[in-house]
Amino acid sequence: MLEVGLMLEDFTERKGLEEQLAYQAFHDPLTGLPNRALFLDRLEHAMSLSRQNAERNGGVTGEAARVALLFMDLDDFKRVNDSLGHAVGDELLVQVAGRVETSLRPGDTFARFGGDEFAILLDEVEDAGAAAGLSERLVEILHAPFMVGGHEVFVTTSIGVVFSELGEGWSEELLRRADIAMYQGKRGGGDRCVIFSREMGSSDLGHLQLEGDFRRAIESGEFKVYYQPRVLIETEEIDGFEALVRWEHPEHGLLDPAEFISLAEESGLIIPLGRWILWEVCHQVSLLRRQIPPEQPLNMCVNLSARQFRRPGLVEEITAILSETGLDPGDLTLEITESVVIQKEATAEITLAALKSLGITIAMDDFGNGYSSLAYLRRFPVDVLKIDCSMVEGMNENAEDSAIVRAVTSLAHDLGLTVVAEGVETIGQLEELRSLGCDFGQGYYWRRPCPIEEALKLLADGTRPWNR
Ligand code: C2E
Ligand code: CA
Ligand code: CA
Repeated sequence: MLEVGLMLEDFTERKGLEEQLAYQAFHDPLTGLPNRALFLDRLEHAMSLSRQNAERNGGVTGEAARVALLFMDLDDFKRVNDSLGHAVGDELLVQVAGRVETSLRPGDTFARFGGDEFAILLDEVEDAGAAAGLSERLVEILHAPFMVGGHEVFVTTSIGVVFSELGEGWSEELLRRADIAMYQGKRGGGDRCVIFSREMGSSDLGHLQLEGDFRRAIESGEFKVYYQPRVLIETEEIDGFEALVRWEHPEHGLLDPAEFISLAEESGLIIPLGRWILWEVCHQVSLLRRQIPPEQPLNMCVNLSARQFRRPGLVEEITAILSETGLDPGDLTLEITESVVIQKEATAEITLAALKSLGITIAMDDFGNGYSSLAYLRRFPVDVLKIDCSMVEGMNENAEDSAIVRAVTSLAHDLGLTVVAEGVETIGQLEELRSLGCDFGQGYYWRRPCPIEEALKLLADGTRPWNR
């Protein structure tokens, strides 16, 4: 009991850390604007409000407020960066953001997505004309030159505009459409705004086409599981692997999950794909197992998406896969993100408890990116905390990032969790993580994710195949 008391005290003391984490997770450090994660959150919220309004009006969509989304990308920004340097480029972005902001209303959300990409959410916009009018004004006001680092700099921008139609979907899809419209503007020479229309079709990896390809791809074995070693920070010995899916697409080549996982989630195809991945990993581990002494650890980490996690029957399915493949549940770690547990907390708790009672280890992934509430760590029975690449990346240069990694690591240890740092790329990061007492690392510093054959070879070369 004493221990619990201490932990609670700890949490109040570290409230400041929590606030700092939340701020960092949702804001762009350069401009102080909301970032992509916060923008998506506001967009979801605005769309669900506007849907509720429509329902209240008996489905009459004409009366209800609509949501408009503007996607803005500077033309030829790379030229500024290349010719005048990054510092000037950064300063220009700050000034552009400032100028745009003066044209917006207090309720609008203005975010920087990274690079020279910005997005604006207009809540309760009266009609299409109002949003188009604002976009044209934004294109206009950027015409006046900027004074940056003693240079007079001229920029133009392309803006894509899209309206949500009620009953219709997802924020990611709206963003995609605004992006398509913006590109249309670029192709037309830039310095303009373009309103999305259905005739514009879709981006190169067309939505419907990809969905059709998907089912075929699972059947014909186009998906491959790649493995990235996880390493003990102290000794640099391999402790296990994270399974990361790839799609060997016959026309588009090797696709990273970023290009198809969210589509798989939205369409529900993540369910058959996720089942296949789990089966494949459990099956292949028996291969790896035979290569190494039984006492050597071989933790296999598999990512579970939100939709997979919430589906009833998940626990039964995993039980069946374990028994079919003969994998020891002690060798399996399932990685989930906090967004998974935030919705339907009670159900999430039950599912997690059931998975743990099978002997499976649970890891909280991407900590420090997006939603990162320390309180969830205490509430949910997780065993492992994975610190997101974005924090590890900043460590060597940014004292604040180091301080956060240090605080999060020590808090996780207080709670009895193991800590894994993701995205370790340099020896400097490794040494700092070692001094912070972080337990495991994963990253390009040791190996990129690789096919099973290479993972086998690594294991055959011993527990420390890095020759350093
Ligand atoms: P994640 O779970 O956070 O996986 C770690 C990502 O970081 C991987 O990207 C990995 O290749 C990358 N990475 C590893 N070391 C480094 C490094 O040193 N530097 C940098 N910059 N990156 C590094 P990947 O393979 O592209 O996967 C992206 C995401 O897709 C994963 O993020 C995960 O959320 C999702 N994903 C991958 N495989 C699966 C899967 O089988 N099922 C589900 N549901 N999601 C998956
Ligand atoms: Ca992961
Ligand atoms: Ca991660």
